[in-house]
Amino acid sequence: MKKNYDEIRSNISDDEAVARILDKLGNKAATIFDRAESVKGCPTGKSISGNCCRICSMGPCIVTEETTGICGATMATVTARNFARHVAAGTAVNSGHGREMARLLGLVAEDKAPGLEIRDESKLIDFANSLGIESEGKNVREIAGEVSKKALSCIGQQSGELNLIKVAPEKRQELWREKNIVPEGIDSEIVKVMRGTHVGADQDPEHIMDQAIRCAISDGWGGSLIATAIKDILFKTPAAVRSKANLGMLKEDEVNLVINGYEPALSEIIIKLSAESELIEYAKSKGAKGINVVGLCCSANEVSMREGIPVIGNFLSQEAALMTGAIELMVVDIQCAIQALGELAESYHTKLVTTSSGAKITGAMHLEFNGSNGIELAKKIIKMAIENFPNRKNKPFIPDVSSDFIAGFSPEYIKYMLGGRFRESLRPLNDAIIDGRIQGIVAIIGCNNVMQCHDKYHNYLARELIKKDYLVISTGCAAIAIAKSGLMDPEAIKYAGDGLRSICEAVGMPPVLHIGSYADSSRILAVLSALVKEGGLGEDISDLPVAAVAPEWMSEKEISMGTCTAASGVYTIFSGEPIPVESSGEVKEIMTTGWQKKYKGQLVYISDAEEALGKILNVIVEKRKALKIDAKKERVLLDMEARRALRDV
Ligand code: SF4
Repeated sequence: MKKNYDEIRSNISDDEAVARILDKLGNKAATIFDRAESVKGCPTGKSISGNCCRICSMGPCIVTEETTGICGATMATVTARNFARHVAAGTAVNSGHGREMARLLGLVAEDKAPGLEIRDESKLIDFANSLGIESEGKNVREIAGEVSKKALSCIGQQSGELNLIKVAPEKRQELWREKNIVPEGIDSEIVKVMRGTHVGADQDPEHIMDQAIRCAISDGWGGSLIATAIKDILFKTPAAVRSKANLGMLKEDEVNLVINGYEPALSEIIIKLSAESELIEYAKSKGAKGINVVGLCCSANEVSMREGIPVIGNFLSQEAALMTGAIELMVVDIQCAIQALGELAESYHTKLVTTSSGAKITGAMHLEFNGSNGIELAKKIIKMAIENFPNRKNKPFIPDVSSDFIAGFSPEYIKYMLGGRFRESLRPLNDAIIDGRIQGIVAIIGCNNVMQCHDKYHNYLARELIKKDYLVISTGCAAIAIAKSGLMDPEAIKYAGDGLRSICEAVGMPPVLHIGSYADSSRILAVLSALVKEGGLGEDISDLPVAAVAPEWMSEKEISMGTCTAASGVYTIFSGEPIPVESSGEVKEIMTTGWQKKYKGQLVYISDAEEALGKILNVIVEKRKALKIDAKKERVLLDMEARRALRDV
């Protein structure tokens, strides 16, 4: 049923640009928002709530608290098995990203990846040290080659301890060792989940969930961390950079080339080549004024964090972007590109190109990127986009909606921003938390879910938290939502509470920090670990006044990262759609009070965003009490005489 703009804006999408497209063009093609209403749920059972087992062909079995599956599997066993398999899939996705980056680094080390180079040598050396590689006396290529091999060997490691857990605070490592959940590798932990959840294998729900945790740690502190570190080495560690967000960044008179997906290697080459005069002249010869490269989803996060490339939208903006009729070519690598793009592109003049060996889309042209053919392939793609400019079918409809934002807040940049070049440190942030100007840090992470109003809950939580003096850090589609809402612009400090505003003003930062793509959620763990190491806020991540929330979660990679965050000692909330354990009280108990007792962090489902906010505030108040930093301290401004008196004591 056709809805008017106001109905769309309050119930379907909080993004003004997307709402305008749906209002004007919504009947032209069925979008994900229409399919959310028309597609019927799976008739064999509510697998989303965890009680449907399809593991063997005697089933599928729907189990209840009173009944078992044909094999005797209980509700808790079935639910834990389903959950663990989600974690394994999510770990495979994030760690697969790490594997691709490690292979690419190996090609760069051998000078076999034209168009790519090592852009951050100091990150290379730091990461080599984290992997236990001696860098003294070796040249950059030698170190890069060794880092590539070592990263790949971590992914394939079969025994011992995953070296990278040493990035976590020591107390956390000790707890993981004591509870026997330190990962032995990354691929091997995924395999252990799959093996243990086969029919007739592991049947103890708590034991299955512990293996899920071990697997998730191998993701957040392993595969994802490898991916982020190597992207920084190859494409540079992000630093604050201005950018703009939303569909208004498409240009009517230029060739619009959209980067979509997850892996930034080819995107970086496309960005570099699209600035070359030869290609710009070629675009002009076809009637365009230039080439406008913009991004969607996590590829957009990657290139905005490093190059300031505009972000036109997140997961639920993809179809609306195509429906502007302004996109000449969309190039997709892997992940989060919805299948409906293929058919929709055919209704417009847009060419859809896939480039990853891991993903093809029906209806798209597949031009595979193998690491060595980047320049040739990027040129071909840019030329295809240019040659498609004269084929626009109608005058584009580009909503004039965009927001300024600052991207690029890597942990390294946050330390530099707070301490300066020669005293890089998180000290001022720890001090601001201790004296109460900042009450705590909340990570808003995760995707969009069409079952929730697009972006609404990311933006609601960000607004409410900064108003109450909580610093918000964000990744993935959540970060794009908040960027579109204007809360990542330094001007947004007017919405922050007095304490947070005073810090943001002094440092010159926005009240919400864009930390990176979803795969960069390991940067959040790195920030938390660094806060502990800085001192004054306890000895473990679980002592910190922090929380994490995924308000519009939907994918397996979020389940994996959310599990890892809980296993790292953070109170983690998924809201909106239920976590797929809702059927089993026993498994819910394991993940909440059980994990809290064992791992001092938990993963909890709270459907309502307002209730989730209240819980976050309560949890952080309790953490502040435990740290004895809950009493409000008056700020004392000292004159020179008072300072001298202090010095002389
Ligand atoms: Fe049913 Fe057991 Fe087979 Fe699952 S493993 S489908 S519960 S018989």
